[in-house]
Amino acid sequence: MKTLGLIGGMSWESTVTYYQIINQTVKEKLGGLHSARLILYSVEFSQIEELQALGKWDESGEILADAAAKLEAAGADYLLLCTNTMHKVAPQICKRVRIPLLHIAEATADALREAGVERVGLLGTRYTMTQDFYKEKLRQQGIQVLIPEDSKIQEVNRIIFQELCLGKTVNASKESFLAIINDLSRKGAQAIILGCTEIGLLIRQEDTPVPLFDTTTIHARIAALTSLRDDQAGDM
Ligand code: GLU
Repeated sequence: MKTLGLIGGMSWESTVTYYQIINQTVKEKLGGLHSARLILYSVEFSQIEELQALGKWDESGEILADAAAKLEAAGADYLLLCTNTMHKVAPQICKRVRIPLLHIAEATADALREAGVERVGLLGTRYTMTQDFYKEKLRQQGIQVLIPEDSKIQEVNRIIFQELCLGKTVNASKESFLAIINDLSRKGAQAIILGCTEIGLLIRQEDTPVPLFDTTTIHARIAALTSLRDDQAGDM
């Protein structure tokens, strides 16, 4: 089993979910007392969020690249950035390490293609929805991306930073999300990407008939499977 290096804490509410899903997947595959080999570097999210809001992406990229280098030095074989938004600085992080980064948008694009989805709605932070770094990974796989109208982008972004990243789940916000999902579906989205690692804390597949692709689940699961794939029998 290979060692996963997680850069988490963005927010820590969803890093908890990563830890659970990775371990559940290893247990599902190997059974018994087996559990994941991983190292977690959890950052101070308040500092990262401040740099995002100021548009100082290079500075936040340096913080995450430092974390990545420390994980590599500590023995991680694969790198996992436990947030969609901060994949904006993935190229800066990759320059500092030799180990591969398991990219959340690439993993999601693979899952969508496997399911035959060609047109998808994307929900996430305003950075993820409006900038290109994330959508281009989907477009490269021939997937067309729809995002909500401006006022809804602000609403989704507010719920993420003022509620979900603080561990709050509010019923009215759940209703807002479901209305936005319905709207994107009416506009032609065959499925919706929960493209922020905390949205799964609020919305679940049983809440809507529209197929959901939860990036936290997809990313954590693919990481666990990758750690087992390379030398499953090797050093368990
Ligand atoms: N966890 C969120 C994401 O997946 C938002 C927090 C952040 O800005 O990193 O994008």
